[in-house]
Amino acid sequence: MITPAKTELFGLFAAETAEALKPLGLEPYRGKQIAEWLYKHGVREFDTMTNLAKDQRTKLRNSFTIMKLSQKAAQHSRDGKTSKFLLAFPDDMAVETVLMRQHYGNSVCISTQVGCAMGCSFCASTLGGLARNLTGGEILAQVLYINELLKQEEHKIDSIVIMGSGEPLANYDNVMRFIRLIHEPYCLNLSYRSITLSTAGLVPEINKLADEGIPITLSISLHAPNNELRTRLMPVNKRYPLEQVIAAGSRYAQITGRRITYEYTLIAGINDQPVHARELAMLLKGHLASINLIPINPVPERGLLRPAPSDISRFEQLLKNEHLNVTLRREMGTDIDAACGQLRHKILSE
Ligand code: SAH
Repeated sequence: MITPAKTELFGLFAAETAEALKPLGLEPYRGKQIAEWLYKHGVREFDTMTNLAKDQRTKLRNSFTIMKLSQKAAQHSRDGKTSKFLLAFPDDMAVETVLMRQHYGNSVCISTQVGCAMGCSFCASTLGGLARNLTGGEILAQVLYINELLKQEEHKIDSIVIMGSGEPLANYDNVMRFIRLIHEPYCLNLSYRSITLSTAGLVPEINKLADEGIPITLSISLHAPNNELRTRLMPVNKRYPLEQVIAAGSRYAQITGRRITYEYTLIAGINDQPVHARELAMLLKGHLASINLIPINPVPERGLLRPAPSDISRFEQLLKNEHLNVTLRREMGTDIDAACGQLRHKILSE
């Protein structure tokens, strides 16, 4: 006799869980109870679900699985503020998840794909190409892994940045499931405003996201002020050139009322000159936007360098002179392979 495959519960909404329980004869309200065990309480064994009878727990164990992550590596910055984890799923595929303890709260940076297909020239995540998309449950599992660690210190997660490995909008449905799940009261009850999603600029999906009615913060990776340079750094620019990306950003800002952040990674001698700053200012003047300057985390395989501090401050000042809203990304964890994909790349290449 072939035993039917068990269904994975982790990543289902309470209503979906209730539906999945029907054939076992469990009451619909059990859906929410189980979701609370999984998400709110971090339980990974049916036997710990003490408000269920023993025979119900046996039935559940025979029909369902609960995904568990295993930690393959961890690095902690010397100042203790940044911790980076390499977390593996049951198929042994692994992604990076980062905890940043900032003065305004604890922020978790999560991955949405194993590897990445975008091919940006300065990024380590894309070095081995795309292995696969993560499911909504696998994205959520990274956050809850960190949540359990923080609980032990009587701390909690205050914000989430979807800025780890992968292009989130290339895995749209799974990322949306994750965002809606984490917002549920039976999960972390996190407000949409404390979630930031960063995209390389997939225009149709930015437009779709604007129409979802969930006011998350959107960051768009720009990295260059003209198409010629942007195509060199980000191949996706051939598909969605700069002007289309900025038009989609403006539409997002208009519909959601939320300011867009344009990310600009500064690379020595490539995009950090005064001419680039002026061109960037022209491009973004008058938009509901801010610019986040990120001095590149050098990736040895890429041979790209960080600009001198004086070049970074000159670039920042030129934008400020044009009355643009500029922030310089605070350096966190540069001593622990904190650039996207670096830890995974290192461990896999060993
Ligand atoms: N795919 C998404 C998320 C990527 S990671 C996106 O493209 O936005 C978040 C940001 O880090 C992006 O702006 C990305 O371009 C940038 N980034 C990637 N590698 C970097 C590096 N080595 N140094 C600095 N920023 C980097």
